[in-house]
Amino acid sequence: MKLFLKLIVILSNLTLKEDIITYFWDTWFIIWDITKSISSRQDKMDKTSLGYELRKTPEKGEGIFATKYFCKGSLVMEGKVLKEMPHNTSHTTQVGVNRWILREELAQKVNHSCDPNVGYRDNSVGGMDYFAFKDIHPGDEIVGDYAMGNYKVDHMPPCKCSALQCRGVITGWKDLPQDIKTLYKGYHAQYLLEIDGDAGN
Ligand SMILES: [Zn+2]
Repeated sequence: MKLFLKLIVILSNLTLKEDIITYFWDTWFIIWDITKSISSRQDKMDKTSLGYELRKTPEKGEGIFATKYFCKGSLVMEGKVLKEMPHNTSHTTQVGVNRWILREELAQKVNHSCDPNVGYRDNSVGGMDYFAFKDIHPGDEIVGDYAMGNYKVDHMPPCKCSALQCRGVITGWKDLPQDIKTLYKGYHAQYLLEIDGDAGN
């Protein structure tokens, strides 16, 4: 409404044949202001609708933080597949016995914790969604256990999750004790059970 009134004042000034340069300047300013306001509103809507955003962490570089509440068992992040990868790297997620993918940027930024609040579930596009393993509150960092997705984890630095049950190093599913595998039931990649089954036979 304020901008509309300002436009009316400018137009009135024009009819009085006042400074034409001021008119163009003010019109440009109004368009810029409206565009900025729409863009900022869009950003806020995106953050609210996503429910998470990228932030700096004190010790682990960037991380993903919740901007809304997720109750246990609810979908937190869809796992879109950016690219199929020929083998395992530090940025890939294993989604099959012999299949690795690169997930979209924000999903890649979810840090590891030995006390995760999200888990993995296979989705219909061949990727891995994040579901809330615990209730997640606004401001909580969203963290998953890499062992919920990757059978083997190589070349990882020591774990900095500072959880009471921290394993000290980031390991894969193959190195998890059976009680943690049981705890993660319903929140890990399904192919891991195929490998466990083959290993047990
Ligand atoms: Zn840890």
